[in-house]
Amino acid sequence: MLAAHLARTGAEDPLDNLEVGDLPTPEPRPGWALLKVEAASLNHHDLWLLRGVSASPIEPPQVLGTDAAGTVAAYGPDPPAGVPEVGSPVLLHAVISDGTCPACRRGEELYCRRMALFSDKPYDGTLAEYVAVPAANLVPRPAELAAADAACLPTAYLTAYRMLFTRAGLRPGSTVLIQGAGGGVATAALLLCRATGITAIATSRDEAKREAALKLGAVAALAPDRGTAKQVLGLTGGVDAVIETVGEATWDISLRSLRPGGAVVVAGATSGGDPSAQLNRVFYRQISVLGSTMGTRAELERLMALVHASGLRPLIDRTYPLAEARAALSRMAAGEQQGKIVLVP
Ligand SMILES: [Zn+2]
Repeated sequence: MLAAHLARTGAEDPLDNLEVGDLPTPEPRPGWALLKVEAASLNHHDLWLLRGVSASPIEPPQVLGTDAAGTVAAYGPDPPAGVPEVGSPVLLHAVISDGTCPACRRGEELYCRRMALFSDKPYDGTLAEYVAVPAANLVPRPAELAAADAACLPTAYLTAYRMLFTRAGLRPGSTVLIQGAGGGVATAALLLCRATGITAIATSRDEAKREAALKLGAVAALAPDRGTAKQVLGLTGGVDAVIETVGEATWDISLRSLRPGGAVVVAGATSGGDPSAQLNRVFYRQISVLGSTMGTRAELERLMALVHASGLRPLIDRTYPLAEARAALSRMAAGEQQGKIVLVP
């Protein structure tokens, strides 16, 4: 089968570690399924792997990709009860947990001791014609939800969903500040806010990204500077929550823009992870600082239902054939994309 994979390590240009070529089609073991990939979307995780940065050991050949939608091609021996039928449309939950540690037994799979994503060894990734996956990671997908749209959901949109609704507890009528518009999670958060009646203000240093944020439903798009928090307070009286993935460069604005008792939800720190904590502001204004990463299978099911019911469609930058994975990854490495990049085998 055709697969975009890490073939070697150490090349000066990380993209030279990539090969798009034939690998053996995997065989599903007991309790596992073979997913026929109809669409896969790219994430920065794929670029980190090409750069040799991973939480797990790197052992080429290693198929890239965490997100995919497709159909069930086959099951290994002894499939668990209640799994989707062979041939039916599914979406892959990108988080793999062992199902046996104390956290998993409490139903808190995101706190699993051995949590991993597809493409982290020993698991193969989704940028291939087929991928073997635990049957528990298959989520039935409505046939009307296109594979390309669904394939955008398991990382960026699920992360944004958990930040907004589970961690910050926002609801229709809430207000939120979304830092770093143009980023994958920030774009997803904007679209989820528009679909659910949450008032969103976006920030970006880039004027084109601010304009794009307004088109995606932000009521205001601001350049981050000393006056930004005042503008946010003027517009909202203080937001209920901040979606923070930028870190050091925007942390001060995040804390100053909240209403008393508000929450800043952190799922990344692209500009650095050690801002001044401003603990006096945190306790006096009774601010919650909440970490968040990925989302549960149950949250992915609710996200897919929301997408299906609301007509929200993920913003797709470009779709490439799998054979052109190098061009697609190179576009993401250059930061040229607006929205998700999708590969189709
Ligand atoms: Zn576990």
